[in-house]
Amino acid sequence: MSFFFPFGDDDDFGFSGFPGAKPKPKKEVENEKYYKILGVEKTASQADIKKAYRKLVMKKHPDKGGDVKEFQEIQLAYDTLSNEDKRKVYDEYGEEGIKEGMNGEEPTSIFDILNGRGRGGKVKRKTKSVLQMLEVSLEEIYAGKEKYFEISRYRICKQCKGNGSKDPNANTKCPDCGGRGVKTVIQKMGNTILQTQQGCGKCRGEGYVIKPEDQCPSCKGFKVKQESKMIKVELDKGAPDGKRYTFEGESDEQPDMEPGDVVIEIRIKKHKDFERTGADLTYTANISLLEALTGFQLLITHLDGRKVLINSKKGEIIKPGTIKTVKECGMPFFDHPTQFGNLYIKFNIIFPKSIKEEQKSALQDLFPKIVMEIKDIKSIKEKYFMSEYNEAETNKEATGGNKVEEEEEQNDGPRQVRCENQ
Ligand SMILES: [Zn+2]
Ligand SMILES: [Zn+2]
Repeated sequence: MSFFFPFGDDDDFGFSGFPGAKPKPKKEVENEKYYKILGVEKTASQADIKKAYRKLVMKKHPDKGGDVKEFQEIQLAYDTLSNEDKRKVYDEYGEEGIKEGMNGEEPTSIFDILNGRGRGGKVKRKTKSVLQMLEVSLEEIYAGKEKYFEISRYRICKQCKGNGSKDPNANTKCPDCGGRGVKTVIQKMGNTILQTQQGCGKCRGEGYVIKPEDQCPSCKGFKVKQESKMIKVELDKGAPDGKRYTFEGESDEQPDMEPGDVVIEIRIKKHKDFERTGADLTYTANISLLEALTGFQLLITHLDGRKVLINSKKGEIIKPGTIKTVKECGMPFFDHPTQFGNLYIKFNIIFPKSIKEEQKSALQDLFPKIVMEIKDIKSIKEKYFMSEYNEAETNKEATGGNKVEEEEEQNDGPRQVRCENQ
């Protein structure tokens, strides 16, 4: 999530600053190519150029399947024509006055271009954006609550205003690199002028030099100080798990840089009663066998604390595994919180542990007799009683046994897996 830009922002790049860098004008200069690439007139305004460029970005950016080489040409044309100084150089001297070793440079991302962070804009480099997780409850998402979140970040030192020295107005810019931390080296190869960047040795790439005795006592010359801040997250009703909230410019500050963003991603905790799927909720209800047969009332405390009474229909029998729907009693729709998903009730039927002999005859009168009629029962040799299912007794291996279990209980000897023949 960081939007770092390669060194050499357009603003820093001054053609007039390199005497002798311009090639001598030729008689005939090819200075229309860039206009053709962008599809604009030679008299086009900056607005026209920008518009044409953005259109091309949408069509030709490598993210959209465009050719990298072709897009680099587009970027170079735009870089040149969108900067009035460079445009003048181009109009006068053509492409040879401009080429500056574009090879190997990553194309600016489509996202950055469309957000105005792209080339040719007056936007500074940004510090790193940070992503943080925030745990929220289902109740908070249901209600769309406000949550507070503490972040720690670096901000420009207030005492020295980011200068780093005792005197906020002192000039601490590195004299060697002019505060850029890098030095520009110009090379001429044939008719092309190559511009490359090298780290500045004097300031070790930091761009400024402050003597220890001149350091700001508050930030010790670091220009920035760590601080914490509470951020208010206004949860959207019905927001999905993983929804991100962006707080622009709330990340670290650095002199001459735009602060990056703080991005908060919500993680919704599991709820003890409700399971959420999209805008629907599922509630598992425990009812007795008698209730399943004769009807029931179910009192549910909803996510906003209100009580909801669920009734079965008259004469309705609930079978094990039944799922019933209470329409529009689920979560508010994300983005349309006046509408609601459904509430599903899943039934878990609690059976009696045992039945007394004298109760049996009453039940036998009540229910229809059994499904399977067995004839000639005496002729069957093999008879079993069932034991409780036990995962540890399974034979997940075709060769018998259960690998994981065997590793855990190596000393137990061979596992006994057999029918209880009685
Ligand atoms: Zn320097
Ligand atoms: Zn300071």
